[in-house]
Amino acid sequence: MASALTDKLSRLVKEMRGQARITESNVQDMLREVRMALLEADVALPVVRDFITRVKDKALGQEVMSSLSPGQVLVSIVNRELAATMGEGVSDINLAAQPPAVILMAGLQGAGKTTTTAKLAKHLIEKRKKKVLTVSSDVYRPAAIEQLKTVTKQAGAEWFPSTSEQKPVDIALAALDYARKHFFDVLLVDTAGRLAIDEALMAEIKALHAVLNPVETLFVVDAMQGQDAINTAKAFKEALPLTGIILTKTDGDSRGGAALSVRQITGAPIKFSGTSEKIDGLEVFDAQRHAGRILGMGDILALVEQVTAGVDMEAAQKLAAKMKSGSGFDLDDFLSQLQQMKSMGGLSSLLEKLPAQMAAKAGQVDMNKAEKDIRRKEGIIQSMTPLERRKPELIKATRKRRIAAGSGVQVQDVNRLLNEFEQMQGMMKKMKGGGMMKMMKRMGG
Ligand code: GDP
Repeated sequence: MASALTDKLSRLVKEMRGQARITESNVQDMLREVRMALLEADVALPVVRDFITRVKDKALGQEVMSSLSPGQVLVSIVNRELAATMGEGVSDINLAAQPPAVILMAGLQGAGKTTTTAKLAKHLIEKRKKKVLTVSSDVYRPAAIEQLKTVTKQAGAEWFPSTSEQKPVDIALAALDYARKHFFDVLLVDTAGRLAIDEALMAEIKALHAVLNPVETLFVVDAMQGQDAINTAKAFKEALPLTGIILTKTDGDSRGGAALSVRQITGAPIKFSGTSEKIDGLEVFDAQRHAGRILGMGDILALVEQVTAGVDMEAAQKLAAKMKSGSGFDLDDFLSQLQQMKSMGGLSSLLEKLPAQMAAKAGQVDMNKAEKDIRRKEGIIQSMTPLERRKPELIKATRKRRIAAGSGVQVQDVNRLLNEFEQMQGMMKKMKGGGMMKMMKRMGG
């Protein structure tokens, strides 16, 4: 799916080239593709609709800079909106509370609460150097209490015993008291889940929340739930003031849409993702990276941003104005183009950002060599006098030898550069104004 979308979008981006504005009609196809991609990624339909509306509102009537196509502008709007929806970067567990900081784990049965409780304990012990206690209030399934005991041991944390004869709130209070007396930094409370949302379950976890006053109330949700995740998320959000989400079983879900749905429905940040059944299978969630993955575009969006940011608009406009006034294209302009190519972050860093398929194609060009080549050309031009740069026709044999010696190259290299410059000059005459991107692409080979 990833490469199919990339292909479609880049084709649409091409089709939109040369149109000065984003309009209702030229944006339709593109938005349809984005919509399909989100649905294929298993993002819930209401969330998709909402997203598309926001993108469209932002895009319509947007002026398009001369060096960009409406398609490129739209791609970057989609990117920014996705990133905004997913939230900023990463957010770790909040422990700013009078110790013990209480973390309440909520979610359906099978979501991965118990496993995640232990994973989190391990994370807090190793990364935050905390003393961690766990307890289970799942009085309906004695096996669940035993399971927590086992995984807590693996995590290197302490487990507080509980039995199915007790009441959940009593268990929680006893554990809290024990944690206080024994100077634990963190108390992780694993709660009972049901296979589906029910009133009794919600009442119970609300009561636990009331007595524990947790600093974090984490909603644990199975990424593979896809569309269903949205209903579960809604129910938990209505019952509890969620402070974060942990998305489990992301190792089995290549589509990643649940993240966007759950994030949008709860408004809470996704803090971690579960990446395996093992105790260390927990990763800090990087919202921005995930946003890119949802549309299956690799970092192609970031690439567009980088190209946009890297182009020196002032230099590009100066050049365009110069060409309109007919004063011609000289070696100084050629140099400024070379420098712009470099300022786009270096060819090899651009290459890394391309989706695999495109990178393979581009990979046939040796980027290191191409970069070295640009530097050599720059060196040659910099060894010329200002007059020579303006009037390259002055550069005859003696001058060529001097320039070659000055920049540490052979005379043939100077000749090659001058040939290339002439070709470029010819091309510029034909193109007349604008088209910086096209031109740079051609130079990039
Ligand atoms: P609970 O009922 O919410 O406490 O869920 P459990 O912690 O018992 O987990 C249910 C199942 O999901 C178990 O078999 C876990 O090993 C598995 N599981 C939990 N998290 C992950 C994960 O991130 N990746 C994978 N592959 N399996 C997971």
